[in-house]
Amino acid sequence: MALSLYVFHLFYKFKVLVLVTLCLMVLWATFSYFVDSRHEISKAKSMVEDFGKVTSLEDSQKEEEIESVAKVPTVKSFQGHCPALSPYLRGASKLTFKATLTLEEVQKENPQVVKGRYHPTECSALQHVAILIPHRNREKHLLYLLEHLHPFLQRQQLDYGIYVIHQAGSTKFNRAKLLNVGYLEALKEANWDCFIFHDVDLVPENDFNIYMCDRQPKHLVVGRNNTGYRLRYRGYFGGVTALTRDQFSKVNGFSNKYWGWGGEDDDLRIRVEMQKMRVVRPSADVARYTMIFHKRDHGNEENGERMKLLRQVSRTWKTDGLNSCSYKLLSVEHNPLYVNITVDFSTQPKVS
Ligand code: BGC
Repeated sequence: MALSLYVFHLFYKFKVLVLVTLCLMVLWATFSYFVDSRHEISKAKSMVEDFGKVTSLEDSQKEEEIESVAKVPTVKSFQGHCPALSPYLRGASKLTFKATLTLEEVQKENPQVVKGRYHPTECSALQHVAILIPHRNREKHLLYLLEHLHPFLQRQQLDYGIYVIHQAGSTKFNRAKLLNVGYLEALKEANWDCFIFHDVDLVPENDFNIYMCDRQPKHLVVGRNNTGYRLRYRGYFGGVTALTRDQFSKVNGFSNKYWGWGGEDDDLRIRVEMQKMRVVRPSADVARYTMIFHKRDHGNEENGERMKLLRQVSRTWKTDGLNSCSYKLLSVEHNPLYVNITVDFSTQPKVS
């Protein structure tokens, strides 16, 4: 009797053990299922978010849409995108400018650049970026800039094109109008997401200064060698700036009325602020440039009208800009390292 009681007790204990083990297994399976799926969802969401951030560059509205998990199934098609930070970046580099450098040498160094354009082959670039460089009589500066900019942009894994907008004739130089022309002409060739408005004499020193557009207009020159690498003044928006196609069209581009040196960049900043946008800058340790020394060019004398023009921006911006930019297009040449757009503004004031 005692033995059968003992056996019964043992059997009962065994049953309880099996039951508890089974319960634990079920609990474990349920728990890991939830953890895995949550992980997958957040991974997918962050990929979608990244994609939203860098390609469409729309404002917060888009972000709210992205929050919806319903978007997750589309993630697979974005897998070939380049990473947010390229693995080829090197950081700060000491720039050298060889006196005997030739265009042929720069061409040889950049065999993958065709007609001024390049795109990475290992992944699909996050943005299509047009670099616009206004130019007149600065061949050597252009050569040095091309020498440094091409490998710099390739290390950033960008799909890019370089456009040099050359002002022909003897009218005063008009940097802003040349940049408007560059924007309008470049968009005839490709659907660029982002525009970099770039002075010919400024060479970037650090490839962590990313030539992509942000949700807000971006000013890339925090410091340069000839000003002790300090921002010139709080509202400074000159040298090199990055605006998306939409940001630039929203402000009606640059004013066309700034003949000679100065003011046009301040005018653009006022336009940006009037549209409730805000200028952003990369950190001072990466947004560093070397300025290639030069004297003030003939035909680009300081613009004495600029203060007067700056006081009028709120009244003039809607009718003075991309929508009123008239010019005579003389040629568009597809050189190996850049597209050369030559324009004539000769119906405008002559250089005295
Ligand atoms: C001019 C700007 C220029 C800045 C820095 C200002 O006075 O209006 O066009 O970029 O100085 O040199």
